[in-house]
Amino acid sequence: MNTVNTEPGEATPAAAGAPAAISVTGLFKSYGSIKALDSASLEVPEGTVYGLVGPNGSGKSTLIKAICGILRPDAGSVSVLGMDAVRERFAIRRRLGYMPQTSSLYEDLSPVENLRFFDGAHAEPGARERIRQTLELVQLWNRRNDPLHTFSGGMRQRASLACALLHDPRLLVLDEPTAGVDPTLRQDFWQHFHDLCRRGRTIFLSTNQMDEAMRCHRVAVIMGGGILVAEAPQTIRDRGTTTVTLELADGRRTFELSDYPVELPRLLTRFGLRPDVRRISVRQQSLEDVILDMIAGEE
Ligand code: ADP
Ligand code: MG
Repeated sequence: MNTVNTEPGEATPAAAGAPAAISVTGLFKSYGSIKALDSASLEVPEGTVYGLVGPNGSGKSTLIKAICGILRPDAGSVSVLGMDAVRERFAIRRRLGYMPQTSSLYEDLSPVENLRFFDGAHAEPGARERIRQTLELVQLWNRRNDPLHTFSGGMRQRASLACALLHDPRLLVLDEPTAGVDPTLRQDFWQHFHDLCRRGRTIFLSTNQMDEAMRCHRVAVIMGGGILVAEAPQTIRDRGTTTVTLELADGRRTFELSDYPVELPRLLTRFGLRPDVRRISVRQQSLEDVILDMIAGEE
């Protein structure tokens, strides 16, 4: 089994200047007085796992629907794999796998029946084998003939993911794919996302789980329908407060750094190689704390 690099700050595999799989520019969408999207812009490089993080009601699902061409924005543009998300939505759909937040599968049908129904190419040779492989991947092959209404929440998520994966799309757009999924299976999902990414696929997903955000190459934080920041998760984390404690011969001194990568070397230089430094301890804020602070700053 391949190991997944879950270390923060994992390098973005796509080379600088690689074409964007998704490009969102100045997107607006209102429902009456509610601004679901308020000038949202972002670029998702091809071959990355890209996370969209934000509180409930911040516009994640609205943005995702606009990317999938299901929702027409009031203003702004969305380009997906070089095509216009509204005008060329049917061409895009063949290359895109979408997993909605609320399952669109049929409760009375089994996973096999649902996949056959949603599989545009079900008449092609190999369709049966593709369904088997996909259901094995999400560990539902042994329940393939049971109706969905007999499934747990996590099993439904897996059936829904299978539907998005079935035609091996170049781009996967997943709205909270791991909600209600147990930790072991979550691990498998993430392993699979990174495997797909290594095979050149792009994964754009929303999540509320900060450990998942740390596993993305890049994270966009959305709040009130606008993107607050879009960077590598470790870069976002570095913007938070880092507490450095030096234990000196004559006591302990604590420093709060706001730009850790720049300020830590400066601090250490200030103390040079003084022989009285016994120990240095560094505590960086978690990604969750940094993002919560950013969100609170906007409120
Ligand atoms: P998230 O996925 O981040 O929880 P959504 O994109 O679903 O957020 O919603 C963003 C905002 O738009 C929320 O205030 C939500 O109530 C509102 N909204 C979303 N869809 C509709 C709709 N069909 N009708 C009215 N309001 C909506
Ligand atoms: Mg949502």
